[in-house]
Amino acid sequence: MRIILHIDMDAFFAAVEERENPQFSHKPVVVGADPQGGSGRGVVSTANYAARRYGIRSAMPISRAWRLAEDARRRGELATIFVTPNFHAYEDASERIMAIIAPLGDRFEQASIDEAYVDVSSAGSFAKARVLAERIKRAIRENERLTASIGVGPNKLVAKIASDFKKPDGLTVVEPDGVLEFLAPLAIRALPGIGPKTETELAKRGVRTIGDLHNISRTVLVEAFGKWGDGLWRHARGQSEDPVSNDGEPKSVGEQETFERDTLAASFILERMRDLGAAVVRRLHNEGFATFRTVVITVRFADFATATRSHTSRTPLTSADDLYAESLRMLLPFLDARENPRRKAIRLIGVRVEKLARAQSRADRVY
Ligand SMILES: [Mg+2]
Repeated sequence: MRIILHIDMDAFFAAVEERENPQFSHKPVVVGADPQGGSGRGVVSTANYAARRYGIRSAMPISRAWRLAEDARRRGELATIFVTPNFHAYEDASERIMAIIAPLGDRFEQASIDEAYVDVSSAGSFAKARVLAERIKRAIRENERLTASIGVGPNKLVAKIASDFKKPDGLTVVEPDGVLEFLAPLAIRALPGIGPKTETELAKRGVRTIGDLHNISRTVLVEAFGKWGDGLWRHARGQSEDPVSNDGEPKSVGEQETFERDTLAASFILERMRDLGAAVVRRLHNEGFATFRTVVITVRFADFATATRSHTSRTPLTSADDLYAESLRMLLPFLDARENPRRKAIRLIGVRVEKLARAQSRADRVY
């Protein structure tokens, strides 16, 4: 029997800010781009739970978050504190948290800066796994003064959905014979890979909950969505064989950003590309990689036409400056007649790195 834990820190960036700044406590806190009195560009990284009460969410334009905060303040509610991200503090906290979790299971996989899976099958029962999960929550609270939500399930898929079920500071245990019943009432977007587009597509067929999906045959889903439909059928039943392992680690790390307004303003676009690249390199290092060789950029125009360009360097690249230089070379032609003869405005840019290598293997890769 497999037993998997998914540990997910609650409103992580905002929670670290609250811890570091006692004057923030019990106040709405938004970590993200500078709102500049409502005219700022960029998005919310994390909103704490008090800010979420105002309707503020991750990935929302910061200008919209600012307006929601102002509306709340005018209603006489607490003023919102906007903070720009301090990634070093989040990475330090993440490292210490992962060091608490990693030794407690048979296998460990860090999924992001604030999420990890632990295979605890050797605990032998879901009751013992629950005790272990409680111990992890307590250790994180006592050592880091932060809360985590944990899901326990028969595989990574169910564990992840369970950790999200009750937040913050939740603990949800789903035993194998309770999986279908647990999933049935949840909205289909709880499943991995269901974006707003698929959600709309499925809603047209009357499918809103995972339980609705249970009523559709495998054949119909495969006919409608191909191989992906088969995966959907299995996911809806909580079936997944994905092992807990750092071998399945990312082959690429990327970031993208949709602009609030379509634009062809070079200085703005280049500045956003520099910031995205810096974020990519931070994540790369955070996930234990030292170098990359391939850089891929994406450009989506206002009419949704999308282009990608990639380049593989013969020597390993390491820094945000390396990445910016490479991405700039590929991006600039889209700002003029070379790749953009009709001068279409740009809606989204993205940058991704591939052919990653860890620090220790770097010597082998240099040639
Ligand atoms: Mg989290």
